[in-house]
Amino acid sequence: MNNSCPICSTGDLDQLDIRDAVPILMNRLYSTALEGRAATRGALVLMGCRGCGFVWNAAFNSSLIVYDASYENDQTHSLAFSRHLRDRARDVVAAVPAGDLIDFLEVGCGQGRFIEEVALVAERRLRSVEGFDPAWRGAEGEGPTGGRIHTCYFDTQTAGRLLHAPNVVATRHTIEHVPDPVVFLSALREALGPDSHATVFIETPCVEWILGNAAMQDFFYEHCSLFTADALTEALRRSGFFDVAVDHVFGGQYLWARASTFGRQTTQEITSLKPRPLPKWARQQFTEKWRADLAERTKFGPVALWGAGAKGVNFSLMVDPHASMIDHVIDINPAKQGKYLPGSGVPVVSPLTAATRKASTIYVMNPNYLDEIRTIATNVGIAAEFVPIN
Ligand SMILES: [Zn+2]
Repeated sequence: MNNSCPICSTGDLDQLDIRDAVPILMNRLYSTALEGRAATRGALVLMGCRGCGFVWNAAFNSSLIVYDASYENDQTHSLAFSRHLRDRARDVVAAVPAGDLIDFLEVGCGQGRFIEEVALVAERRLRSVEGFDPAWRGAEGEGPTGGRIHTCYFDTQTAGRLLHAPNVVATRHTIEHVPDPVVFLSALREALGPDSHATVFIETPCVEWILGNAAMQDFFYEHCSLFTADALTEALRRSGFFDVAVDHVFGGQYLWARASTFGRQTTQEITSLKPRPLPKWARQQFTEKWRADLAERTKFGPVALWGAGAKGVNFSLMVDPHASMIDHVIDINPAKQGKYLPGSGVPVVSPLTAATRKASTIYVMNPNYLDEIRTIATNVGIAAEFVPIN
């Protein structure tokens, strides 16, 4: 176990939580409840740095995790998420000086949804768009909107496949899956080459939002590295990036960092090294609170969750590990419907099917989706009380 923070090297650490057996993959669903409950598990030993606020899983074992084509994490069926993607695509396009053609690279591009969005916003300014992701399901070198996606990680070797040197790069929701972020970012910087003249965007969950909202369902195995704005700034600076600036987006849930591969190193240090409050063992209070709430609500009718992503998987496992109280989980992603969650084995259904199960309470895993969930529910005839978890 590290005795110092992997980002800022501070030795002032705190152990925040330990969980023995959590599912290692949150976005792999199963054909039966039994298979879901038998999903491979690992330990979560959450450490926090009082210097930069970085939070990480000291028991993370990357050899347990394989990201391949069976990984299903498409959130873009949601309107709120689509709007968020559009805004980030506008940021990407605006980072290239007006009049210049755009050569965009996305590292960890999934099935190319953000590539499509950037192409749509960039229009004729787009000269090339390429992505790298071992979970890409299409043919090697093919992609949406004339882009090219490569079924591999991006590194100094595979960088040779790029047709043009990128002038804008994004990596979204990737770095939180990496056990050594400085090594990951340094490798990215190296793969872009010494002559790179690019703006780089990084999107990742904000651990201050998670802690501030007591969103304990947001701590799970795959997210082994969780950042504050300070921690992300420091990680980028130590990896050879310049002019780092970090915004909060998506209702504060995500950090959106912007950095350059060129420029001059500033002497700016981490702004505050005074000890940060790190709530220890907040999960126990969270679990007890929601378990009591759930037990009370099941007296009045079936209780369901909305959202079969990582938050829903984790919430059901913490609050109702044997699925004895939660009746079903609703998700609008057709690839998840008819399947079962890892860990608890709760069945995932479409909104239409959910209407027939007549839940009286539906816990909403992400408050950002509350409005569109209410609209969908009204349209299919779900009449339940909606309770956001944060
Ligand atoms: Zn630190």
